[in-house]
Amino acid sequence: MQLLFLLFFLPQNAIFAVGLEVWPQLETRHFLVIAEPTSQAEPVSLADWDAILGQLIEQLDAVYAPLFGGQTLASSQPPLGQKPILLLCAGKASYLQRLMEYGIANPASAIGSGGYYHPDANIIFTWRQPTDYYSRHVVLHEVAHWYCLQLLGSRYTKMPLWFCEGLADHAAFHTWDGQTLHAIQLPRVTLENHPARLDALLKRLTKNDVVEELAPGSVSECFERLRTEQDADAVYDEYALAWGLAAFLVEKFPHEMTQFFESLKQNDVSGSWQSAFEEEANQPTWSQFADWVAEHQHPWQWVWNHWEDTGPQLFGISDSTALIVQNPAYQSRCIDETVLLHCEVTTLLDRTVLGLVFRYESSECFEMLQFRKAGNGVTEWRHVRFAHNQWEMLSSWRQMRNGGDITNNPADVLEIQRTASPDGQRLQFFYNSHIVTEQADDPVADLPFGLAVQSGAAQFRVVTHPPNPVSHWSFPMP
Ligand SMILES: [Zn+2]
Repeated sequence: MQLLFLLFFLPQNAIFAVGLEVWPQLETRHFLVIAEPTSQAEPVSLADWDAILGQLIEQLDAVYAPLFGGQTLASSQPPLGQKPILLLCAGKASYLQRLMEYGIANPASAIGSGGYYHPDANIIFTWRQPTDYYSRHVVLHEVAHWYCLQLLGSRYTKMPLWFCEGLADHAAFHTWDGQTLHAIQLPRVTLENHPARLDALLKRLTKNDVVEELAPGSVSECFERLRTEQDADAVYDEYALAWGLAAFLVEKFPHEMTQFFESLKQNDVSGSWQSAFEEEANQPTWSQFADWVAEHQHPWQWVWNHWEDTGPQLFGISDSTALIVQNPAYQSRCIDETVLLHCEVTTLLDRTVLGLVFRYESSECFEMLQFRKAGNGVTEWRHVRFAHNQWEMLSSWRQMRNGGDITNNPADVLEIQRTASPDGQRLQFFYNSHIVTEQADDPVADLPFGLAVQSGAAQFRVVTHPPNPVSHWSFPMP
């Protein structure tokens, strides 16, 4: 993810000298994509990159070009020989090997990175990441570096590193449903959870006497301090901070940021900053930033793999258990007091076991209403508890006919409601408007709710909260 400006020159097509000409290739409007074959199924097929990269450049044009002064890139189509190369390596060893072949001066600095943009060779190097989401995220991040350099030119090289990295990550947060990319948009859940990391970091930084004023100098100091920390996690904190700051400034101060980029043509960073933010009342502060971060948390938290926000729906697939739970900060925000969780579920494989999680205390302790779906249309449900690393069945299963083959039933509606009864509050569980079971609603029932896929694959369209579908890339507080 680091950005290097190297002083030596490599011929444009030198890539073909190291045996990559046999790898599958795709020429898109702006890039030549070359992918190292893998034995596993690709998270994104080579053909998908045409749509992803094309849509990304258009979306960057819409958001960044006005900010940078109006120029756009989407309509340009350089000849093949001038196109940057996007190299998708199958794994880290292969990625580091390619970097060495291209003479990256300090390979050690690349060891922790998922991608590298090499401006002189005009190559973006990346390698396949543990999640499909993050594999795309890394590519979008590196392409954003390329984009910013094309549009800002020498102004980009003046900017502090945190700003370059932050703008690139701002562009890279996205959803992708297989056809439409929404870049520059915070998804509802990611494994990495940068927003939560940043929130925790700011709480720590506050204790370290962060100056009240948010200025490039004070941010750079903070960023560099993280950089020199020995903690291996600090690099993630560093990127989370860079992302949040850039996103906050671009979203909250677009007019000032345009002035800042304009002023960079003539002036240095601090001079440009001062001219853009000369009115004292309008200067961004750390406390404003902290508030913004609190408002920009993922509404869902990842517990176990595999989950992805595809835009309209939350997609879960698993060989064991895939589980996400509500972010506690969003927990009390429901459509009304009684409906605690409402979702429409589409099963994507013939046999899928999925569930609604409740009384979630930790990844080691929670309960679930589990639905078992098979091709013959039979749905069973079980009330199970996970504790002490074991599943325990709390109530016996039943069978329900749900009206034929599940393929004829595009979405099932699952809901948890809270209702009052003579002996106290109850949690009621509904399947396609039929109540299937109810539980006493004890005080711990205010713990987060969740979604699970225990085998197979399913998509959840959650309509209570968080807001759905997502609008732009932020989640307004109701
Ligand atoms: Zn980067």
